[in-house]
Amino acid sequence: MSGRILVTHSSMPPIEEYIEEIRELWDTHWLTNMGAKHKKFQVQLKEYMGVEQLDLLVNGHMALELTIQAMNLQGEVITTPFTFASTTHAIVRNGLEPVFCDINPQDYTMDVSKLEDLITDRTCAIIPVHVYGNICNIEEIERIAVKYGLKVIYDAAHTFGETYKGKSLGAFGDASCFSFHATKAFNTIEGGMVCYKDREIGERLYNLKNFGIRGPEVVESVGANAKMNEFQAAMGLCNLRHVEMEIAKRRKVTEHYRENLKGIDGIRLNVVQKDVEPNYAYFPVVFDEKAFGASRNEVFFALDKQEISARKYFHPLTNTFDCFHGKFDVNRTPTALHISRRVLTLPLYADLAVEDVDRICEVIRSCKR
Ligand SMILES: *Cc1c(COP(=O)(O)O)cnc(C)c1O
Repeated sequence: MSGRILVTHSSMPPIEEYIEEIRELWDTHWLTNMGAKHKKFQVQLKEYMGVEQLDLLVNGHMALELTIQAMNLQGEVITTPFTFASTTHAIVRNGLEPVFCDINPQDYTMDVSKLEDLITDRTCAIIPVHVYGNICNIEEIERIAVKYGLKVIYDAAHTFGETYKGKSLGAFGDASCFSFHATKAFNTIEGGMVCYKDREIGERLYNLKNFGIRGPEVVESVGANAKMNEFQAAMGLCNLRHVEMEIAKRRKVTEHYRENLKGIDGIRLNVVQKDVEPNYAYFPVVFDEKAFGASRNEVFFALDKQEISARKYFHPLTNTFDCFHGKFDVNRTPTALHISRRVLTLPLYADLAVEDVDRICEVIRSCKR
């Protein structure tokens, strides 16, 4: 199939491998409710992540929403608006008030120099985002959280397969929430994972994902339903075997992009962070119209005309969503606003051909004036 280049293209194992993995399900007829695939996937992930405790959920959003709920929080939560809808929605849907901290212009994660000023006696938690897989200033967030007695839940949706100082991103904060959505660097079709520290949080999370049911006649709490099913877990088991290769391929594509777009006035590529082994999940480019001669939107349309789908990821900012009309002042997060008006994430997936990368870069260069 030729034609339009999409921004992403889900990783899938060879079909025979998936069929082999799900074959047992036709013997057992056990399709969900923490079956054999779920258990096996959980064990393998603990090993892969190097953590003691994690749970699997139906998707990344429910991982975030239910982790917040499991912590019994009240009041204000400090977060950033330069993220997917899920982060802010998970806070608001728990009856909590998001307080938006600006991002820093280097790696687009929470600007920790602005964090302490936002803390009030109503603040209960910090929910930072490792956006594009760029790692937040974990040490400083930890220091501030300890000083004020705040919980830290990382939105780690973009970080599967990455390490920071040799550890997986499941090792930090009170909890870290991952997404295994089809569009992510690693997928289980839909899916989510929470790595957590406190055993009690894990117990509550389990109850929240399975109606609070703890035995045939025991319903311990008023839980929801957010279980990962056996077909999802089977997809995860297959994709986990290939994840290192997938990341290596993404790295190649990324390096080809960087080589192609380096040194162009007005184009800013993503940072390379110290102590981080990245997963090459996204390729964000920030256009400075004055220096480049064309705006982000002009580049977006030029690509679109050539059958290339880039994405304005993240635009609009969550604190400007229609559903929050009049609630938040976007001028309090000026850097986030600046970046969201200028950023474009380019197509990136393991099997994106270098010829396609060349074509994409050529269209971008042709916009320069
Ligand atoms: C994808 C994503 C989520 C939500 O994950 P789903 O699995 O799609 O529910 C949360 N936060 C961020 C930053 C994401 O990109």
